[in-house]
Amino acid sequence: MDKVYVVCPNCGKKLFRIDNTSEYKNIYIWCKNCKKEIKIIEPKSQSSK
Ligand SMILES: [Zn+2]
Repeated sequence: MDKVYVVCPNCGKKLFRIDNTSEYKNIYIWCKNCKKEIKIIEPKSQSSK
C-alpha cells in the first residue's frame, strides 16, 4: 500500500493523501489556493504500473 497525493487539477496544490489501493469516483473538495470547489476524479499514482 502506497500513499499518494491528490493534487488540485487547477493549481497543483497537494490537497490530501490517499492510499493507492483505494477506489473512488468523484470527490469534491474546497481548494484554499484556488478558493473554489474542485472535483477530484482520480489520484495521481506515481509508483504503480
Ligand atoms: Zn487549486
